[in-house]
Amino acid sequence: MAVKRVLQYGEKSLREPSKEVHKVSKKIHELVQDLLDTMYAKNGVGMAAPQIGVNYRVFVVDVSKNDEPLNPHVFINPKIIKKSGAVIAQEGCISFPEAYTDVKRYSNVTVKALDINGRAFILEAKDGELLSRAIQHEYDHLDGILFIDHCVNRFETDKVLAEHNLPPVEPEKLADDSELDKELNK
Ligand code: ZN
Repeated sequence: MAVKRVLQYGEKSLREPSKEVHKVSKKIHELVQDLLDTMYAKNGVGMAAPQIGVNYRVFVVDVSKNDEPLNPHVFINPKIIKKSGAVIAQEGCISFPEAYTDVKRYSNVTVKALDINGRAFILEAKDGELLSRAIQHEYDHLDGILFIDHCVNRFETDKVLAEHNLPPVEPEKLADDSELDKELNK
């Protein structure tokens, strides 16, 4: 068990793209365990490897509620192969303690990835549920994209970030959400 330090917004590694995993080795198993331990210690629903300073394409998600048994999902070399619908909801990130803002996401995503045994699987997350948002959020981390890059209102988000002593939105990093906007206006 190893709870790692979680990088905070402003630290460079969070903006760096992560590398593909070539072999689901013992080292990757240890990384997954560290991610799970750290996520549970921080009461998060997801954690991506770059958040603990390891730039590999690995993330974990567990959207089980407090009174439910743990239900960890492990995603190695994930690819989002289908997305549709759009939804706006409040979102936060363990790298942005206590800061929440409205973020645009797809309602439905289908993701293909390898599991902890290196076997490929496909998972469909629907209806804008937490699992769908968490997958999109953690997936973005692997490309150095942060939830605030999809914020609905940059100035509102800046206000929230300032209240939590975090740096402001980086305007040049704001995502092109034209596809999402099209879905939202349907
Ligand atoms: Zn995050």
